[in-house]
Formats: sequence, C-alpha cells, structure tokens
Amino acid sequence: PASIVWFRRDLRLADNLALDAACRRGGPVICIFIREPGDALSGANGAAQAWWLHHSLERLDQALRACGNRLILRTGSPEEVLSRIADETGADCLFWNRRYDPDGIRADTDLKSKLREHFARVESFAGFLLHEPQRLLTKDGRPYQVYTPFWRALEGSLIPLDPIPAPTAIQAVNTPMHSDSLDDWALLPTKPDWASRFSEVWTPGEAAAQSTLAEFLDGAINGYKARRDVPAGRTTSLLSPHLAFGEISPHRIWHMVRALPDTIPIDDTTHFLKELVWRDFSWHLLFHRPDLATTNLNAKFDAFPWQDNEMLLAQWHRGLTGYPIVDAGMRQLWRHGWMHNRVRMVVASFLIKDLLIDWRHGERWFRDTLVDADQASNAASWQWVAGCGADAAPYFRIFNPAKQGETFDPDGAYIRAFCPELAKLPDHYIHRPHEAPSEILRSAGITLGKTYPHPMIAHDFARKRALEIFQSLGNS
Ligand code: FAD
Repeated sequence: PASIVWFRRDLRLADNLALDAACRRGGPVICIFIREPGDALSGANGAAQAWWLHHSLERLDQALRACGNRLILRTGSPEEVLSRIADETGADCLFWNRRYDPDGIRADTDLKSKLREHFARVESFAGFLLHEPQRLLTKDGRPYQVYTPFWRALEGSLIPLDPIPAPTAIQAVNTPMHSDSLDDWALLPTKPDWASRFSEVWTPGEAAAQSTLAEFLDGAINGYKARRDVPAGRTTSLLSPHLAFGEISPHRIWHMVRALPDTIPIDDTTHFLKELVWRDFSWHLLFHRPDLATTNLNAKFDAFPWQDNEMLLAQWHRGLTGYPIVDAGMRQLWRHGWMHNRVRMVVASFLIKDLLIDWRHGERWFRDTLVDADQASNAASWQWVAGCGADAAPYFRIFNPAKQGETFDPDGAYIRAFCPELAKLPDHYIHRPHEAPSEILRSAGITLGKTYPHPMIAHDFARKRALEIFQSLGNS
C-alpha cells in the first residue's frame, strides 16, 4: 500500500526524514500539501511569505516530477483531506516532519490520535531545527533564558545528522488524483504587484537554497564575523527564507560548515553557527512561552506608556522618517521582502525607543512583509530590541541612527541603493542630510521636506525621553 508524506515547513527532498521513511518503506508515495479552508495565506506567516510559498510549491512539484512523482494540493481540514486520500488510494501510512508553533503542536497532537483510525502508522520526524525545542533544559530543569549557556548546551549535545541525499526516483500511485491548481490559491499579489522586485534577489526552492549555501561557504563566510554587520553587499548567507520554509535543513548547514577546510578562520565559522543557533533559541523560547509575540517576557514593560500614533507608524512603514539608515532599511524590506540584521535592529530601536510605538506593531509589520518571517525569531528579536525579552539588549541601548549608519555604511552605499533621492550627497552628509549646508543639498538635488523628509523627531530629545520612561518603570 501507498504512504502519504504531508509537506508543511519542509519543502525539500534532501534531508527530509518523513520522505525518506516513505521511500525506504517501498511502494508508492503520495506527496501532499494542504491548505486549510479560510486560510488565504495557505499557512504562510504573511503576504510576502505567500509569494515565496507559491514559488516554493512550484519548485517542489518540479523536483518531484523529475523523480516520477508530483505534488498534490488539496483544500480542507487536514483530518478530512488525509482520511479521504487514504480511502481513495488505500494508503495506510502517514509521515510528516514536526512543526513547533503553538497552534501546529496542538493540531498535530490531536490529528495523530484521530488519524490512527485511518492509518496503520502515523509517524512524525524532526528536521526543522537542530534540536527539538523541548529537549534542552538547564541543570535545574528549566527552560533557558540566556543565550550563551543555551549555545553551549546545544553544541555539546548535538548529534549531527549526516545529510541524506535527495531520492532520485519516488514511485507514484497508479490511480489518478485530483490536485487544486496553485494559481487558484491566489498566493501572488496582483493589483498592485508589490512583489515584482523580489526576484531581483530571491529564487525560492531547494535547489536555490543549496546553491545559496554553496556560494556563501565559498565566499562571505570568510570574514563573516567582521563583515556581517555591514548592510551593503553580500555579507551574510541570505539563507533565512530558505530555512523558514524548510527548503534546506539546519543540520545540512551545520554539517557543511563544520566540514570546511581550516583555511576558513574558526572565528568566522563559529560565529556563523552561533547565529544559526539563535534560531533554535528563539524556538525554544516560543515553545515555553507560546504568547511570545503578544506578551512582554519582562512584565515590568506592561506599564509602558506606548504612543498610539497611526501617522508616525505609517511614516516608519514607508521609510519616510528622515533618518537615511532607517528609511533605506524599511524600503529594502518593501522592495525585497528582507532587511539586513543590523538594520533590523536599528529600525526596531527607532520605532520602539524614538517613536515610543509598541514593539508589537513592528512585529506585525515584519511578519507581513518579510519573506523570512518566522514566528519565533521575529517575536524573540522584537522583544530583544525592546529590552523586555530573554537575554535582551539593555534598555539604555538606544541606537543613534546616524551614528549606526556612519559606522556600518561609511560610504553610504546601502543608503544610495535604497534611497536614490540621496544618492548625490557626499559621504560626509549621507547619514545626516538635515545637517548639510543648503548649497550641498542644492547641488545634490535635494529639497528637505519635499524630495526627502526632515527628521520626524530629534534623536537626542527622543533618547532622553525614552530613558526617563524606562527609568520610571524601575529598570535602572
Ligand atoms: P546570517 O547572518 O547568514 O545567519 C544565518 C542564519 O542564522 C539565518 O538565516 C537565521 O536563520 C539565523 N539567525 C541569524 N540571526 C538570527 C537572530 N538574531 N535570531 C534568530 N535567528 C537568527 N530572522 C528570521 O529568520 N525571521 C524573522 O522573522 C526575523 N525577524 C527579526 C526581527 C528583528 C527586529 C531582528 C532584529 C531580527 C530578526 N531576525 C529574523 C533575525 C535576523 O535578522 C535574520 O535571521 C537574518 O538577518 C537573516 O539573514 P541571513 O540568513 O543572511 O543571516
């Protein structure tokens, strides 16, 4: 009899333990992706991810077809869809890779018991993270709150999985099977097509995930520790959206990094693996605090007097704050569905500490606009910048946007790429157009307040104001 492999956040053929189990068992394999009724995003975290998901499903189908199989798309509750397929085809085994979001865990636990009536075997596997989020605990049996001991515990106990090659042939069932049309799922934006420039940077799918890794290991990993904070050029791996959809397994990344020749400095490889483990740490936090995206981990922040100001929020969304590094970041996010990590920290700090807008507004905007939107990493990082999260940045760390720009983008290459109206400013003023003499602005073709905004708030004033509020919460 046939086996079903239910794909979710594991849109790959290599290192896919659920698929591997079905192939090893022998017999036909039915590969399925399910959209729940009423879920316009088909499981994506936001609109930008829906774009990615469309293309990733297309690529997965192509890869399966190259193995003599195909991807079946169905709409319905997983219980109904899977039991109907069992009836249609006589499939008696069901395999999937585990997901770790709170709703997903609940749904899978429930499904496992219900589907046992229809299947002889219902089995789930690990593969989304390096470690299952519940496995690591401190010596006194508690979840980790601090990153460094978590890293040590993970590194010390990790049993790296050897990469499993992708199958070259996957037997298909003989019975014809209905599949929804991907276009009917309407995951791509149309009017307007705001994702039209995503493909300048991104190619979704497993093949691209592997070539992105190979390119990184051949290039930017060398010097990663020193250069990873530079937002211009290719200084980081760009693997995050591929990881978010499980197009590549973190174990494969770990394995390939550890196998690099010792001509690559150990500081660079270790630093990169530590970043990768922040992803696991975030999922560990979410597992133990399912309310991570909505509740301050540090309850002192519950009394924070956030400002509710739609207009300020909209200026931030659009990259019209008058601070070039913030504006370039927000426009990179809109244009490419991604933003460099250093700039994420700067724009988040600006929203929270300069504008005093609740971090949850930022979390929501990122979730909708990032192709790598990740329930755990996004929520944990927003709380981290706000100062209310686990192992968080101290509250008094308030980024000065102009100084951040000068340190990490000294020649303004990043600003010039995303804020073309500032491109002609000399390096000296590129991060502070409001301080430029009028003749410099004129010769750069800039009229402040018209072609580029005045700063929406004076940073020195905002910084003092935020510190006073934080101190009044008893954080000093
Ligand atoms: P690299 O530097 O090449 O790192 C390799 C991998 O390590 C990344 O792909 C990612 O999986 C992981 N990683 C790196 N830094 C972090 C981190 N701080 N936290 C968790 N994982 C990390 N990352 C997401 O994947 N999804 C999000 O929704 C997300 N939201 C964020 C929101 C804010 C406010 C901030 C400050 C950071 C956020 N990050 C998020 C973390 C980080 O910015 C991205 O993972 C990184 O920029 C992705 O680029 P890269 O793959 O080139 O990273």
